[in-house]
Amino acid sequence: MSKYWSRLAQNLEPYVPGEQPQDKKYIKLNTNENPYPPSNKVIDAIKLVTDDKLSLYPDPNGSELKEALANYYNLDKDQVFLGNGSDEVLAFSFMAFFDSSESIIFPDITYSFYTVYANIFKINYELVPLNEDFTLPIKELYKKNGGVIFPNPNAPTGNCIPLEDIEKVLIKNINRVVIVDEAYIDFGGDSAVALVDKYPNLLVIQTFSKSRSLAGLRVGYALGNKDLIEGLNRVKNSVNSYTLDRLALKGAIAAINDENYFQETRNKIMDTRKRITSELIKIGFNVIDSKSNFLFINHSSIKAVDIFMKLRERAILVRYFKMPRIDNYLRVTIGNDKEMDIFIREVCKIVYENNL
Ligand SMILES: *Cc1c(COP(=O)(O)O)cnc(C)c1O
Repeated sequence: MSKYWSRLAQNLEPYVPGEQPQDKKYIKLNTNENPYPPSNKVIDAIKLVTDDKLSLYPDPNGSELKEALANYYNLDKDQVFLGNGSDEVLAFSFMAFFDSSESIIFPDITYSFYTVYANIFKINYELVPLNEDFTLPIKELYKKNGGVIFPNPNAPTGNCIPLEDIEKVLIKNINRVVIVDEAYIDFGGDSAVALVDKYPNLLVIQTFSKSRSLAGLRVGYALGNKDLIEGLNRVKNSVNSYTLDRLALKGAIAAINDENYFQETRNKIMDTRKRITSELIKIGFNVIDSKSNFLFINHSSIKAVDIFMKLRERAILVRYFKMPRIDNYLRVTIGNDKEMDIFIREVCKIVYENNL
């Protein structure tokens, strides 16, 4: 605490990301990064624009990338908003669509940035408790509210709701904005992008960080009715006109254009997820059905925190949340096959030692 801080800064409770240790080499299964590198075409595209033009500002509208995304999703360019990672798009969305007058609603177990944004922008919120099995109680999202936000698939549980359910939520909240955070949608769920033309209150947010292996480039986007996109532009242009730099814009376009690589890597991750799920079940784990690039697991006889610590000693990082309802679970990112073989081998040892 410093006397120089504003009251706003004093009262913040910032988000704490998963650790990015610099000391030794860990197998990193703790921040849902993609284990595969970005497409070579992305690297080449970035190198090609790493030149004298960096002295000039980038296109503030990111028109070329918007056009690539609009084509990809069969939408108009004015239905696309770009941001410096989807976290920024989320922050702008809270500012653009939510007011302090009425509480917004989101699940009690979800992406922890939502409460952080609600606090910084002074937006009241009400938590909707997930069912015992961590599924989303859809009807609870019909109640009076100032806006709805949830990830689909949910984080950190990984489970996904069908489009019929999203459609019901949209109809019941037709006068409020419903934000579907689709950070993990490319790993097996059905995207609500298909509903964008039908529901003016729907905002779908996606990212290049997970399924496109570009967490380091910081590119996220929102898809929705053009009025919602205009609202986001008003906020963005009141904070920073140039949220995406020249390299990010070009790299993202190359990523969208390399469909083969995208399909290949996401399929590999889904295959590995299936294999690891059955391996874990065999040794006594309960595994929540996942449509994401991570698994949310707990063991019938060993405490999650103990497994977490033992894996850490063996240079494997997974995510443990010391929070109500989920403090006996671990979130494990799907790594490549070699990493996951080591993970399974070490977890088997931990389970075996526990049974001695
Ligand atoms: C990873 C993640 C994001 C943020 O991704 P960016 O890297 O900022 O694009 C947003 N929402 C959820 C649920 C996530 O897991």
